[in-house]
Amino acid sequence: MDEPQKPPMKEQVQFLRSLQDLDRQIFRWTRDRAAKPRVMDPVDREVAVKKADHEARTKDLQAIRSEVSKRELDLKEREERRVRLEAQRDQSKSNKEYQAYNFEIAAVRTECGKIEEEVLKLMAGVEEATAKVADARAQMEAAQAKQAEARKGVDAEVQKIDVEVKALRDKRAEAAGSVDADYLRIYDRIYKSKPDGVAIASVTLDGGIWHCGGCRMEVTFQDLNVIMKGKDAVTCRSCSRLLYTDAKPASASAKKA
Ligand SMILES: [Zn+2]
Repeated sequence: MDEPQKPPMKEQVQFLRSLQDLDRQIFRWTRDRAAKPRVMDPVDREVAVKKADHEARTKDLQAIRSEVSKRELDLKEREERRVRLEAQRDQSKSNKEYQAYNFEIAAVRTECGKIEEEVLKLMAGVEEATAKVADARAQMEAAQAKQAEARKGVDAEVQKIDVEVKALRDKRAEAAGSVDADYLRIYDRIYKSKPDGVAIASVTLDGGIWHCGGCRMEVTFQDLNVIMKGKDAVTCRSCSRLLYTDAKPASASAKKA
């Protein structure tokens, strides 16, 4: 845990803390930025639902229309049969034959009447289904407009964050220049391994025990002494964060006693 270094840790702490402060800000902005697109999830889902509904309504309409075509074809076929039968009837050789044709023609007419009624009902259905398609389309387009608006908002927020982060990164590069290369290397290594972006932690006295501010683990007295002297870099035995303290050696031993 002791790394070879020239300048004492206590001189580097202020620079490392400035660096940590900037890194924390960058960390939070980056996390916020990553979360932004998730705002779109419910909006995208809404569009998907409305789109599916519009498709379903369109299919319903197509089904009724195809039924209308089928029935109209049936009707046409019967009309042709009726005309054929009438022609045959007019060629009848006997009254009996004539009456038989009339009987058959009447049956075809009855069938035609039924089909015409069905077509009328289906046409009303077409009208109703057309209105439903129009309604579903309006709802889908409204959801799409809302989606485009939300997307614009998210893009604008992300852009704002990018500007913020760019400025912070510039400041960070400058702050990193103040840190000794060895300390910076240690710091960067720890920073990259921490999911909360905290690489340096203060050691504080709590309930008579010295704790690492990063993981709350107790710090040994041996480590505490090295931290107090401020010469060498000490990392937490539990979370590996660089440790420092604002407490004076006197107060540490006083509190110990
Ligand atoms: Zn720790």
